[in-house]
Order: sequence, then structure tokens, then C-alpha cells
Amino acid sequence: MKGEGAGRADLHVHSAASDGVLAPAELVRRAVALGLAGLALTDHDTQAGLAEARAAARGRRLVFVPGIELSAEDEDGVEVHILGYGVPESGGPLAELLERMRAARAERMARMIERLRRSGLPVEEEDVAREAGGAPPGRPHLARVLVRMGRARDVADAFDRYLAPGRPGYEPRPKLSPEAAVRSVRAAGGVAVWAHPGPALGKARLSRLVAAGLGGIECFHPDMTAEDTGRALQAAEAHGLAATGGSDFHAEGERVPLGSVTVPVSVALELLAAARHELA
Ligand code: AMP
Ligand code: ZN
Ligand code: FE
Ligand code: FE
Repeated sequence: MKGEGAGRADLHVHSAASDGVLAPAELVRRAVALGLAGLALTDHDTQAGLAEARAAARGRRLVFVPGIELSAEDEDGVEVHILGYGVPESGGPLAELLERMRAARAERMARMIERLRRSGLPVEEEDVAREAGGAPPGRPHLARVLVRMGRARDVADAFDRYLAPGRPGYEPRPKLSPEAAVRSVRAAGGVAVWAHPGPALGKARLSRLVAAGLGGIECFHPDMTAEDTGRALQAAEAHGLAATGGSDFHAEGERVPLGSVTVPVSVALELLAAARHELA
């Protein structure tokens, strides 16, 4: 193995099964080509890409970790994303929650399109549906359509102008509490990790999530400042939690590249081991 990827794992990646653009097998192929030793697929609200990624990783020198990302919101309105690692794809209460979240995404997207149309942007529902390609629709799909319509320079610009909270196209997501998200992941046998906590990482919030069964904190992420990362590492250490990290890669040319934020592959193995007793 050559290069910077050797011994490293990118544990936060989205595929076309949610709001990324690359197929799960293509992500695995690229991770291997980059020399990464581990990869987790963490699509929003769906496990639909996991089987393909797992199959593509078979026989390669790559530790594959199945994952999921849930977007929750705390009582004070702060967004809290929860990653679930090592969750079996076997139905049960988590699958029902995911199903509800996906249905809510479809309704929310219809409202966002309607809002944009009312503010003079004639977004076509079919264009967004084609962009999503059957995946649970998310703002990045809408952003890419707006870019193609020439209404935004790039995806980041589309968020700034239209899709961020307070902008004309924004609609909130259904309310899911962070504790409920953590508990659902735990009950399904997975390890729950607080994704990119940033400045939202406070003592009280962390204590509540730990009490709900939190198993890790995503300490390395493009949105985390050096200070955020420092506090997250300290908190993980203090509570005996895994310190995870990843690029949150969605598409080439959007935000940061695949494999640009990594942790030692031992963290991937740690997550799998922690989930395994429940997976068996
Ligand atoms: P949604 O789940 O539909 O609310 O969309 C959230 C997704 O949009 C997340 O996966 C983020 O990676 C992405 N996102 C949020 N803010 C931005 C931004 N300013 N620029 C690009 N992508 C963003
Ligand atoms: Zn996303
Ligand atoms: Fe997130
Ligand atoms: Fe993400």
C-alpha cells in the first residue's frame, strides 16, 4: 500500500443511494485506488447501498463498515446528526424509523419545490426526481438542479442563496430527538456516533446522549475547526467513546474529496467489534 491512505479509514461517505452521486461499488473502487484501508458508507435514512458496497469490498484489502446517518434536532433547535455503524439490514424498529424518515423527505421536497416556485424559481419536480434517481430526496439533489438551471454557481452557492435555514427554499425536517436516534441505533445493535458536533458539543447535551447509549464522537470532519476537534477528542477520552472521523464526501467538486479526512483503520475495527456481539 502506498500513499497517505495506508492504514487510514474514511468513515463518513454518501453514495447515490442517498444524496451522493457515486454508486456504492464505485466508492469502494476509489477508496481502494486511493490506498485507503477502511471505508464506511453512511447514507442518510437508507441502508439501500450497503449490500452493493459490501460485495464490492469482498476480497479487497479494505475494511468495510456499514453505516447510516440520521438527522435529529435537539429541543433548543440545534441540529444533531447521529451516525449508526454496524447496524444489521434486517428490519425491525430502526427500519420502520428509516421508512418514516424517507417518506417525510419526499413530502418535504415537494414543499421546498413549491416554495422555490412561489419565489420565482420554476423548479420542475421531475428534474429533482431524476436527480435523486429513487434515493430519498435531499437538499443536495435540489442544489444540483438549481446549478444546472443556472440559478447558482455551485452546490455551496445554491445552499447559501436558497436552501440554508432562513433562505426561501428551506423547509425543516421532521422532528427526531437526538436521544431517540441514538437509542434506535443502539436497539438495532449498532454503535451510535455523534456526527460533526462542532460548537454544539456541550457538557449537558453530551451527558444526555451518553446516557442514551452514545458510543462515539466524530472528532475529524471538514466542518470541525481545530478547536472543535480538540474539544471532541477530550470529550471522547473522558467518556471512553470512540473518536471517529471522515470526509462526508458527496460528489467530486462539492466540498472535500473522498479520503481527505481519515482516522486510523483501527477505529473501523473497533466499531465493527463493538457492533458484532449484536450483529451475530
Ligand atoms: P438534507 O438532509 O436534505 O437537509 O440535506 C443535508 C445535506 O446537505 C448534508 O448531507 C450536507 O452534506 C449537505 N449540505 C448542508 N449544507 C451544505 C452547504 N452549505 N453546501 C453544500 N452541502 C451542504
Ligand atoms: Zn448528505
Ligand atoms: Fe451530517
Ligand atoms: Fe453526512
